Amino acid sequence: MVARRAQATQAARLNLNTQVTTMPEIFRAARVAPMTPGWPLLEDAAVVVHDQLILDVGPFDHIRRTHAGPVRDLGGLTLAPATFNSHTHLEMTHLLGKTTQGQGFVTWVESLLANNAYGVDQPLVRSELTRLESRGCAFVADISTRNAPLLAEILASSGHFFTSFQEAIGSVVPEPPAALLHQARDGAESGRGICAVAGHALYSTSGELLRAAKAVSTAANNGRGLPFSLHLAEHAEEDAILLTGQSLFLDLLRSRGVISDYTAPGQRPVPLAHELGLLDEQTLCVHCVTVTDGDIALIAQGRASVCLCPRSNDYIGVGQAPLAKFLEAGVNVCLGTDGLCSNVDLDPYGELAWLAAQNPGVLSLGQGLALVTANPARFFGLENTLGSLAPGRAARFSVVPQPVLDAFLKGI
Ligand SMILES: [Zn+2]
Repeated sequence: MVARRAQATQAARLNLNTQVTTMPEIFRAARVAPMTPGWPLLEDAAVVVHDQLILDVGPFDHIRRTHAGPVRDLGGLTLAPATFNSHTHLEMTHLLGKTTQGQGFVTWVESLLANNAYGVDQPLVRSELTRLESRGCAFVADISTRNAPLLAEILASSGHFFTSFQEAIGSVVPEPPAALLHQARDGAESGRGICAVAGHALYSTSGELLRAAKAVSTAANNGRGLPFSLHLAEHAEEDAILLTGQSLFLDLLRSRGVISDYTAPGQRPVPLAHELGLLDEQTLCVHCVTVTDGDIALIAQGRASVCLCPRSNDYIGVGQAPLAKFLEAGVNVCLGTDGLCSNVDLDPYGELAWLAAQNPGVLSLGQGLALVTANPARFFGLENTLGSLAPGRAARFSVVPQPVLDAFLKGI
């Protein structure tokens, strides 16, 4: 706990996000992780910052010779790009500690629905976002079922870059379907965020609605498309519903009016998502726990990205995604925390430390950092702004916390 507080303080001390400097400043650290192709972890390195942008990165000796400006020596820290949380549900922030752990998905959902799941606690969300920023996170992908415009407004007033997904669930396709894409409220335009469409899951949302949501997403942004997010292959119950139509969870959804007249498509989640045309390079497949080798190949062929939420999967008790297989298949893997309804914090570094500890030797430190920096920056179309320390990028940093470094050292 003490160590955690110390790390948060270190990150806060490095908060350059709002500073406008009159001359370049040089930040020196024992290690710098640029996260640019071909650049390893640099020892005794420096980053030059001016007007909230990165001017240069390199070995300290070289930087000192080629740039003027005061040096801020950060000592033995490891400096990395600011992190991305690629999947969370801010509208459920108030459910921290109020849901059932480790007893499977149906029990967890029942505990979720026993609370006021969608009653946004605005001050709490704002304080969580502030805390997250102090830990070096600069991007949040938020999924909201009922409060997307409000959450977009809160995100816009924070210091984060963001994608605010409005989630489609059920079977009703609105007319026009473009209504699935929400608009930020007046005053929510920050230049740091976009509004987008997500589908909840194949078992809770009809194929017709998911296709419509994906079509709206693909046509948006003047035809360039938007990121699309889908919970996919999260738990065994999902397979059972789709294959047989028999499940306690389906009974629960029926009783709450989410689903009526359900006909099982008779296919497992990933092949069904493929058949519905949902797997392409603008889709983020969230969870991907119950996947076969064939499923992984389908995701890779579609060039879809995957967002793992390992602590959430552990909290609910649904198993773990095959990280090594996704990496071997060349899939762009990102990390998310999911909401505080199934996790203990929203810090991507917490997720990475846990993942590295559970998968010793699978990831190098650089590969691990990519899951929370360069990979999501690529998926969310922010690779020219965030995700790496390179000239022209925003001066948004994180300090790699000691538990993350320890987890990787133990894995070597
Ligand atoms: Zn989720």
